[in-house]
Amino acid sequence: MAKNQLNCIGVLTSGGDAPGMNAAIRAVVRRGLAKGLQVKGIMKGYEGLIDEQIKDMQAHDVSDTIQKGGTVLYTARCKEMRTEEGVRRAAENCLKHGIEGLVVIGGDGSFRGAEALANHGINVVGVPGTIDLDISCTEYTIGFDTAVNTAMEAIDKVRDTSTSHERCSIIEVMGRNAGYIALWCGIANGAEDILLPEKYDYDEQKIIDNIIENRRRGKAHHIIVNAEGIGHSASMARRIEAATGIDTRATILGHMQRGGSPTAKDRVYASVMGCMAVDVLCEGKTKRVIGYKNGHFQDFDIMEGLAMEKHIDDYEVEIASSLSHNYNKYDQVFGGEFAE
Ligand code: ATP
Repeated sequence: MAKNQLNCIGVLTSGGDAPGMNAAIRAVVRRGLAKGLQVKGIMKGYEGLIDEQIKDMQAHDVSDTIQKGGTVLYTARCKEMRTEEGVRRAAENCLKHGIEGLVVIGGDGSFRGAEALANHGINVVGVPGTIDLDISCTEYTIGFDTAVNTAMEAIDKVRDTSTSHERCSIIEVMGRNAGYIALWCGIANGAEDILLPEKYDYDEQKIIDNIIENRRRGKAHHIIVNAEGIGHSASMARRIEAATGIDTRATILGHMQRGGSPTAKDRVYASVMGCMAVDVLCEGKTKRVIGYKNGHFQDFDIMEGLAMEKHIDDYEVEIASSLSHNYNKYDQVFGGEFAE
């Protein structure tokens, strides 16, 4: 392994927790130790950096964690870090504890905090940890795969009971303002309708017409996967039931999607990204974020990485629609873009 100029690095998790964060922490700790570094774990994200909740990490501190959901370092949303005084204190505490390089595992907000710290002389590298997949420079974020699989299994179960009772079911999945989890679940669960914040035109009558048409053709169930960014599933269910006369229920999957044992993909990718973050710091780089793009793990400038263009794939959206047996609805859902 290449020799490095750093003596001590820190690692923290920040923002929403995501399955696979522990694999990333484990990788940072063990890669760092293997490179002869001292590694410090910072509890509760930036809150722990400001309050000095900092502890030495040894290899055994991360044993028996790779298979666990959540984060053994805990996480938090820290208002103080959004202030100049908070950033200054966080940077001072890094210096006080000898932390020359910091690995921040979290979402875009956490990376903005990292960038602010870098402006105070701390070398920083971000590792994308969020179930939402909403970080522009990367096609993969830690936790997305597990969250999608958890939601998919839950939706399968709702579908069983929905079919038995000939109901319409609206199932709301997480993702904040991004529709990636909804799109993946929509395809994986064979949903009749998928409502994505990036695409939805809020014309509920089209959905109602679809439900009525599907029922006329003999479909027993109607699954609508609704994204958190659209929300209001319960009121939508009441309106659909009133308009169609079909028993309609809303299920909001909520935080169950953030928990559970990470999938193999989340464990492996998080391990690679955690190691790479240490390697990047050891190369003397700072203000970097690790991403997975075009089949490769790469590092990007944090601000450039966050500013890159990223879109829901229109072809995947079109496929989701074409597989849902609503053969005539492309133009309804997508404004005619894919109409035959
Ligand atoms: P998720 O996608 O899971 O919500 P996130 O990292 O985007 O993760 P945020 O709550 O946006 O979650 O950010 C996490 C923390 O990062 C904040 O609580 C705050 O402490 C810090 N942070 C966010 N934005 C900034 C900023 N502009 N400057 C300094 N610190 C920030």
